[in-house]
Amino acid sequence: MGNNNQTYDAIVIGSGMSGGWAAKELTENGLKTLVIESGRDVKHLKDYPTTNMMPWEFEHRGRVPLEIKNKYKSLNNHYILTEEHLHFIKKDEEQEYISDKPFDWIRGDQVGGRSLLWARQTQRWSDFDFTGPLRDGFAVDWPIRYSDLAPWYSHVEKFIGIAGNKDGLDVLPDGEFLPPFEMTCVEKHFQEKVAANYPGRNVISARVANLSKPEPIHLQQGRGKCQDRNLCSRGCPFGGYFSSNSSTIPWAEKTGNLTMLAGSIVQSIVYDEQKQKASSVKVINKQTGSPTEYFARIIFVNASALGSNLILLNSISKRFPNGLGNDNGLLGKFMAFHNYRGRISAHFDGLKDYTTDGRRPTSSFMPRFKNIHKQETDFLRGYNTLINSNRSTIINDKAWGEELKKSLLKRELGDWQITAQMMGETIPKKESVVYLDPVKKDKYGLLQLHVSVEYDENDEKMLQDFFKEFTAMFEKAGYTNIKQLDTKRNPGNENHEMGGVRMGLDPKTSLLNKWNQLHSCKNVFVTDGACMTSTSSQNPSLTYMALTARAADYAMQEMKKQNL
Ligand SMILES: Cc1cc2nc3c(=O)[nH]c(=O)nc-3n(C[C@H](O)[C@H](O)[C@H](O)COP(=O)(O)OP(=O)(O)OC[C@H]3O[C@@H](n4cnc5c(N)ncnc54)[C@H](O)[C@@H]3O)c2cc1C
Repeated sequence: MGNNNQTYDAIVIGSGMSGGWAAKELTENGLKTLVIESGRDVKHLKDYPTTNMMPWEFEHRGRVPLEIKNKYKSLNNHYILTEEHLHFIKKDEEQEYISDKPFDWIRGDQVGGRSLLWARQTQRWSDFDFTGPLRDGFAVDWPIRYSDLAPWYSHVEKFIGIAGNKDGLDVLPDGEFLPPFEMTCVEKHFQEKVAANYPGRNVISARVANLSKPEPIHLQQGRGKCQDRNLCSRGCPFGGYFSSNSSTIPWAEKTGNLTMLAGSIVQSIVYDEQKQKASSVKVINKQTGSPTEYFARIIFVNASALGSNLILLNSISKRFPNGLGNDNGLLGKFMAFHNYRGRISAHFDGLKDYTTDGRRPTSSFMPRFKNIHKQETDFLRGYNTLINSNRSTIINDKAWGEELKKSLLKRELGDWQITAQMMGETIPKKESVVYLDPVKKDKYGLLQLHVSVEYDENDEKMLQDFFKEFTAMFEKAGYTNIKQLDTKRNPGNENHEMGGVRMGLDPKTSLLNKWNQLHSCKNVFVTDGACMTSTSSQNPSLTYMALTARAADYAMQEMKKQNL
């Protein structure tokens, strides 16, 4: 054991979406908790430098010049690569990894992780997701079902605040909602057309972690109503959206039980051969390069899906020569992500008396409608869709000077435009892997991670189905000028990488049990995207948070019983 400064009840690795939840739950229940975060500290309100800037106050109106863009090649033109967010994004030189096949690893290397940047789309998974692998014969069966997680979804939703409607759909279970954001008149028009022509398909207001009407629990966190600025990912001065920085981390700090160690990277978890459990973590101070070891009874690994794989693979001991908990050789295997390649747009020459007023932090949403109750297509699983619409000002782009000014002052609005963005499930496969380079280390001494994943035939077929179905639905709704776009975005660019340390019933085929405990090292819990057995087509982060809260509760019960 180390000295008192280095010994805690619990250690949490990573302070992002899931780490923030581990910290909140553990400290609230009296555990002295050390959160180790590799990035710099980002304090709510104080460290949001662009939050109130007007477009003309950015040196390049928000756009990033080529010479700077070239430093962020691994982001591959991701939409967050703007002057608004550069301070929350890692440069290529700061993140060394090796993509065997095109892959964009987008990391949030700061206190709060990617919870600062996320788009806040929050859907519960349903039993169609938790039973998916079993029914469709891929990966392994999930060790839990929707009913195991439902109370924990409620627990998380009440605290973070989610705007949405109770839509009563079996594929998208309802939750604890604040009032929904309004759909535009064209989205409502589409909703009616879909309801009339496609039984079983639904267009709804997209559920989003923004405070449409705060409850007392949100005010207690010091957060206020969302102002519909839709500038969330700059960091919100109102705390209008959920991030670890505005919510879970300050909440944990208030308990007096949290120690935040920012700017310190976890190299590995140390396994005590005698006690047959993990005893400590090895940490490098990024500024000084000095190593320290911190000790605790339990360790939560929340370094994001790939980050957690990297740490476990780097945690070598006599007992675990291939990475902590890796008795079956499956650590780093069965990775998956989401297929966001499909986009389709159209015009609507109607409802011209209407336009939008102000902004909203969300859009409309069509839950998955394919292969739900039975297999209907020659591809497995399905896709959700985000739907957006707006009208823009007609600009005479041939005009100059006075004439251009006049055309702008007319503020004449064009047709409505409606777009649909596919969010498809991908299948975790044994050959989709991350693994360590045998020699190449990053500057902090961790062997570098290779990422080797790619789209497959299932994804291609699903993409074509999305194009076919949405073209038909848009035509039926009377929309014109329909354009299909395969964005060809790389895996990873959708920010939903998952797997490598999957949950399962059998230690021979999975790494974690139903409580997110490593089967063979019970005081280590992995509750971020690494634990996911399959990917669903819903957004994943709400599920990471619910799994984390559930695992923390279990860990604390086991500690009380002296089992950990
Ligand atoms: C632009 C964008 C939009 C998104 N939109 C959505 C959405 O609408 N809905 C949704 O569900 N999800 C969305 N996501 C994904 C969501 O942000 C992630 O799923 C979520 O943040 C993952 O939580 P996490 O705790 O696993 O990891 P993160 O939030 O990424 O946090 C991991 C933390 O661990 C730290 N860390 C890593 N390695 C180490 C180490 N070795 N030592 C110490 N610390 C370490 C990192 O610095 C980081 O702070 C979006 C992401 C982005 C970038």
